[in-house]
Amino acid sequence: MQDEIKKVTVIGGGIAGIQAALDLAEMEIYVDLIEKNPCIGGHMAQLDKTFPTNDCSICILSPKLSDCYRHPRITIHTLSELKNVTRVNGNFNLTIQKKARFVKEKDCINCGNCVEKCPVKVEDAFDMQLRMRKAIYLYYLQGIPSVMAIDRDKCLFLNKGICKICEKICPKNAIDFEQKDIEMELNSDAIIVATGFDQFDPSHMTRYGYKTHRNVITGLEYERLLSTSGPTLGHVQRPSDKQPPKDIAFIQCVGSRDVKNNPYCSSVCCMYSTKQAILSHEHDNETKSYIYYIDLRGGGRGFQRYFQRAQEEYGVQYIKGAISEITTDEQENPILHYEDLSTFELKSQRVDLVVLATTMIPSNGLVELTRVLNIGLDRHDFVETDVHNSLKTGIPGIFTCGCCHGPRDIPTSVTEASGAAAMAAEFIRGG
Ligand SMILES: Cc1cc2nc3c(=O)[nH]c(=O)nc-3n(C[C@H](O)[C@H](O)[C@H](O)COP(=O)(O)OP(=O)(O)OC[C@H]3O[C@@H](n4cnc5c(N)ncnc54)[C@H](O)[C@@H]3O)c2cc1C
Repeated sequence: MQDEIKKVTVIGGGIAGIQAALDLAEMEIYVDLIEKNPCIGGHMAQLDKTFPTNDCSICILSPKLSDCYRHPRITIHTLSELKNVTRVNGNFNLTIQKKARFVKEKDCINCGNCVEKCPVKVEDAFDMQLRMRKAIYLYYLQGIPSVMAIDRDKCLFLNKGICKICEKICPKNAIDFEQKDIEMELNSDAIIVATGFDQFDPSHMTRYGYKTHRNVITGLEYERLLSTSGPTLGHVQRPSDKQPPKDIAFIQCVGSRDVKNNPYCSSVCCMYSTKQAILSHEHDNETKSYIYYIDLRGGGRGFQRYFQRAQEEYGVQYIKGAISEITTDEQENPILHYEDLSTFELKSQRVDLVVLATTMIPSNGLVELTRVLNIGLDRHDFVETDVHNSLKTGIPGIFTCGCCHGPRDIPTSVTEASGAAAMAAEFIRGG
């Protein structure tokens, strides 16, 4: 019966939002999943493997993406963001802005003809600007919905009124330049906020040389280099000369545990840098990795054993050291100048590539979203939660999970997502 239908809106289509949506749908609750990008998947889709098991990230994520897409009780709204909320008789009335895709989702068959012929090349944000894509594009290879989108800022027709090659070539007439941004109204009995995180940009921390030294990259960029669906098809190459790096330094706490930037611990970096060092050795067993750290933080199950295996089986060296500066030699090899915190000596080391473990920060737009929802922010600008229940916000009926309330790994995000879904179900069913 219509009046028995219960609905929850989940904001953010990363692993946390996806898991919450699937759990709710299995509890016979209808879900509107709101995602601002052209496809769901979040950061997990960008990762190569996941610690501590080193399972293929997309292989774990893909079935969940399809389950979400096919589930009769889940409606995915991509290119969408929440603009307004009002509360009527305890229910939420939401105004969602859905941006035009300029491609009819139901008609596109992802044949790729349009991509092949599109004349405009654009840096690919999903691949961390390490390769070019076209102005009409699939957000990522395994992305769901598996349909193209047109980049409104780069498309020749939308900006200069010329081209329309994609429209001419599309065998399904799926291109629709008449599409407009629309506003739609949704009713919801509860809301789950799962907007995840963004990456700290270390460009202004000149001592690391990010963006000035070509062979200094971030952890997320390195994930794309390791990935077989990434810009180098999984062949690890350093940016300056496309050669495989033999000595790699991984630097911890870039922008975290640092009062000038972010005082909190980013929680996953010691583990993901160790993972990246192990994978580098698996790609090329001549590769040697050095992890520069302040102190190693890995509190999860099996995490200490993971650090131990990295050292014993993969020859990873952990150096307790504080970096003062990174310079380069004539071949663009980075040279690390650091204080060895075990001996207090000043030392230097030349490597082929530096990977910066940059902090997770609140996602862009979270301040505005929390204002619209009337929920609080904590002192680091993540979603503020109840001191006794970290999945509850200050507003009854609005719950949260995953990295939008602080850095955490995938297993924790997934566990929380199931918790938030259970609490939302309990809330709307009255216990
Ligand atoms: C380099 C690196 C390596 C990592 N490796 C591992 C690993 O090996 N193992 C592990 O367990 N963890 C790892 N992590 C952590 C892992 O990425 C996170 O735990 C996980 O992605 C958190 O999922 P999430 O859904 O909370 O956030 P996200 O993955 O950030 O997803 C949030 C989603 O919400 C969307 N969104 C944001 N704002 C809005 C809005 N206003 N409206 C609508 N949608 C919005 C975003 O577009 C995104 O799709 C790693 C992290 C990094 C940076």
